[in-house]
Amino acid sequence: MTTAATHLECDDCRARYGLLDPVNTCRGCGGLLDAVYDLEGLRQRLDLDAVLRRPNTVWRWRELLPLVDDNHRVTLGEGGSPLLMCERVGEAIGLRRLAAKNDAMNPTASFKDRSFTISVSKAKELGVRLGFTYTSGNAGASFAAYMAKARIPSVVLVKDWATREKIAMIRIYGCRTVILSYDSFAEVTRMLEEAVKRLGIYQFVLFINPYRHEGYKSYAYELWNDLGRRVPDWVIQPVSNGGGLYGLWKGFRELKALGLADRLPRLVACQPTASPPIVRAFEAGKTVAERFGDPRASIAQSIGSDAPIGGGRRILRALADTRGRAVAATDSAMLEAMALLGRDGLFVEPSSAITVAAAKQLASEGIIGPEDRVVCILTGSGLKQPAAVDQVFPQGLEHIHARIEELEPLLLPTGGEG
Ligand SMILES: [Zn+2]
Repeated sequence: MTTAATHLECDDCRARYGLLDPVNTCRGCGGLLDAVYDLEGLRQRLDLDAVLRRPNTVWRWRELLPLVDDNHRVTLGEGGSPLLMCERVGEAIGLRRLAAKNDAMNPTASFKDRSFTISVSKAKELGVRLGFTYTSGNAGASFAAYMAKARIPSVVLVKDWATREKIAMIRIYGCRTVILSYDSFAEVTRMLEEAVKRLGIYQFVLFINPYRHEGYKSYAYELWNDLGRRVPDWVIQPVSNGGGLYGLWKGFRELKALGLADRLPRLVACQPTASPPIVRAFEAGKTVAERFGDPRASIAQSIGSDAPIGGGRRILRALADTRGRAVAATDSAMLEAMALLGRDGLFVEPSSAITVAAAKQLASEGIIGPEDRVVCILTGSGLKQPAAVDQVFPQGLEHIHARIEELEPLLLPTGGEG
């Protein structure tokens, strides 16, 4: 069980770095780095049956992960989340083969665990002594949990609009938790750049850390396996900086290079209408996204970003390569989707429900066909943002006093909720 990764390579100047070099971005040109694998060699030696006999976690596909020495593995049992048919949602929006991957089932109740099991394991392998990150909540909770498990001291800066529930999760893992306020995202970026320049701090921010998105490749492997070793027609992913979507793209390309899949799914990036820089760039046919929108103006907290890292170039490339789409959805469309998903037994935050809002929109436009096999990635639990439920049901709750006369009308055949 050894990695097939050979080195890191710069997106822009193609400079190479070793897998034991604690580098964040390219030292020559500042470009983003990506792990490169010897897929041809792996194709010769891969024992697929042995892989599929391993426990169903992110680490099942060990050869396609960049850790060199297994002794540094930091795991909480992440990945392997269920893929569920959503019949009731599908009926409501006219899609017969709609499924959801419920990543709220991860250890810290969000998809971020797929990325931090990899990046924190790599940090341990690289001898990182201190970690810090900034977050709207989900990433911070996941980061804090894995750093605690790895015994690496850490500081988490939390955006001042994160929910109490998310902040509570970050704190319980024992890392230093600090509220961060700012006027524009550019200030945050500047501060982070200064921190790196002055203190040489190793970074865990998506894409600036070259390993986090490697964990999201596991979506592709799991979907392919759960669908009977087939590729879905569409995969719909919420996007802020787009780690999940980039991971999906890279993972499916690897399956194809290994001769396991014959095509790529079409990928859909969803963003709130309040801050849709990727959607805007996609619609204009551009390869770089410019700063746009107000992230705080939407309930979709987890994907509130007006300036994607690296200008969103990786995401726009993935969308172009898969003949994908980019869709913006309103808060009311997300709330409606939350209610729909509830009927299929799924409680997710608005930033996850946006995938169903996007599916509905693309189905109504005839872009997704009624028989297409569609997967919505549900990235975070509704328990992280329970106040959104009050917006789903603005009429409030009914009350009764403990008397049979008041109970009885509720239990008559027409009384229950469908
Ligand atoms: Zn470079």
